Amino acid sequence: MIIVTTETATADDIDRIRERVEAAGLRTHISRGETHTVIGCIGEEDRLADVPLRSLPGVARVLPVMKPFKLASLSFAAGPTRIPLGGTEIGGEEIVVMAGPCSVEGADMLRSTARAVADEGARALRGGAFKPRTSPYSFRGLGEEGLELLARTRSESGLPVVTEVMDTRQVELVAGHADVLQVGARNMQNFALLSEVGRVRRPVLLKRGMSATLKDLLLAAEYVMNQGNPHVILCERGIRTFEDATRNTFDVSAIPVLKAETHLPVMADPSHAGGRADLVGPLSRAALAAGADGLMVEVHPDPPTALSDGDQSLTFQQFRTLMADLAPFARAAGRRMPVGPPATAEVRSPAG
Ligand code: PEP
Ligand code: MN
Repeated sequence: MIIVTTETATADDIDRIRERVEAAGLRTHISRGETHTVIGCIGEEDRLADVPLRSLPGVARVLPVMKPFKLASLSFAAGPTRIPLGGTEIGGEEIVVMAGPCSVEGADMLRSTARAVADEGARALRGGAFKPRTSPYSFRGLGEEGLELLARTRSESGLPVVTEVMDTRQVELVAGHADVLQVGARNMQNFALLSEVGRVRRPVLLKRGMSATLKDLLLAAEYVMNQGNPHVILCERGIRTFEDATRNTFDVSAIPVLKAETHLPVMADPSHAGGRADLVGPLSRAALAAGADGLMVEVHPDPPTALSDGDQSLTFQQFRTLMADLAPFARAAGRRMPVGPPATAEVRSPAG
């Protein structure tokens, strides 16, 4: 159930509404907007049956939440969630691009990639240290060494870093090195992991599972939020279908559907969706047209020699062209592409 306040509700009114709900044994979640506040009630709604909520001062409306997800639902928040990241915001006017190699392969390649993508407007460096690979014989990442390389590159370049966490036992370690924790498609329903990343104070980039419905994705976000972490970024990265011309099938409709259901920011990953470098441009344009708040793109100094996902990785030059080509599409969607390196390109501590 959600309670929407009047425009004139005072802080005392809100406190009293909250106390009544909590006295009935439910938890409350407050979302303050410019004109009104939304008080979300979490728990057994039957217990509120005898509480005269509508008659309390400051209450404008009391509405049921029909969705199985609550904290993630659009009606639970007074406006879209904006997640601060290194001087910008995910979910704001700027399209946030996270770019970098599939896997961290070494110091030099990471440093040169960070510099190249930052110069073109990327606002975060991506790179896997722990890699989920379909075959156990494939390169599975540099592990802790990769995390250290990411942290070092972060302090040299000023770019926040995004990296995948695959296991509950690694959450603390990864959170100590990275700015955003990525939960990959293969782990989208690893509920223990979702709860664990819900307990840290780092934004979580939650990628859609390859056979997950959008409801499954939103319920996975709910697991993270339910533990106290409100900063979840959803990411459409393609789903498995019968089509085999592309690595996955980019579900462009996921973006507007999610936007209609949730206040959380929605990104798209055209690299894993298409699996081919030549598709990154068209899929990125489609994502922006559909309302995506950001893109995650794989970029490598020399894609043919990449240890993972070389076929879908862009060269520095291709990334430069992509960013320039996207500008008019972002404008047409009422957004803007970032230009040049971030203003905050300075040394920051990992806890920043
Ligand atoms: C990745 O981002 O490198 C990755 C493994 O993505 P996904 O979980 O979407 O396959
Ligand atoms: Mn990859």
